[in-house]
Amino acid sequence: MRVSWAAASHPGLRRSSNEDSYCARPDLGLFVVADGMGGHAAGEVASRLAVTAIEAFTAETAGVDRQRTWPFPYDPTLSLEANRLMSAFRLANRRIGDAIAGSQDLRGMATTSSAVLIGPRHSSLAHVGDSRIYRLRRAQLQQITQDHSWVEEQVRSGAMTASAARQHPWRNIVTRALAGGEDPDVDVAELTLEPGDRLILCSDGLHGVVPDPRIADLVGQTGPLQAVCDALVAEANAAGGPDNITALALQVDAD
Ligand code: CA
Repeated sequence: MRVSWAAASHPGLRRSSNEDSYCARPDLGLFVVADGMGGHAAGEVASRLAVTAIEAFTAETAGVDRQRTWPFPYDPTLSLEANRLMSAFRLANRRIGDAIAGSQDLRGMATTSSAVLIGPRHSSLAHVGDSRIYRLRRAQLQQITQDHSWVEEQVRSGAMTASAARQHPWRNIVTRALAGGEDPDVDVAELTLEPGDRLILCSDGLHGVVPDPRIADLVGQTGPLQAVCDALVAEANAAGGPDNITALALQVDAD
């Protein structure tokens, strides 16, 4: 399989800085989006630290097998790629904890993170917080991560509709994040990819503003992936651009 990618990140129309970060390392098969939180630009530090730590660990473990001394126990029920992502997220959390311990200004910072790691045999995803990964397959858009957010818990329990969740004053409350402290509970899953699939990794500045059917329309349009990402950002800004917006798109093709 051949994977191509594009990305767009924009501060939106109401915020002066962009606290989202992303990384694309097609040589490693790694793609990450992170959405930082915290005052005094600390959110930007948190998301950048997370992305950098995940990238560094994934690069370090490229081409090695499970015999390597892992900093965390190896889970034999998961693929090598899923184990690498799990460890990378936990290490990222520790880096954030170290940074907070070293600076008063960074206290309270945290970040979401959603990542895809495409390996030679398996592909995996990892996810903490309310950034999302969607897969578009044969014109059907499916959200393949579950938000760790208060409103999403309400939607899942049937107490709130998805459109009410987008308007709710507590829509930004995340129930899990990389925030230093204890090793985080990371959702990891194996990911099956087929030629023709598109994946979108995005922050809530996109999915919290643009409804899923509209995201499906824009991701399904023919044309270059960069145009897709730019259209997603433009759509979020047309809806007011209340938050930072990041969209990273992957296209899977047969070799
Ligand atoms: Ca956000």
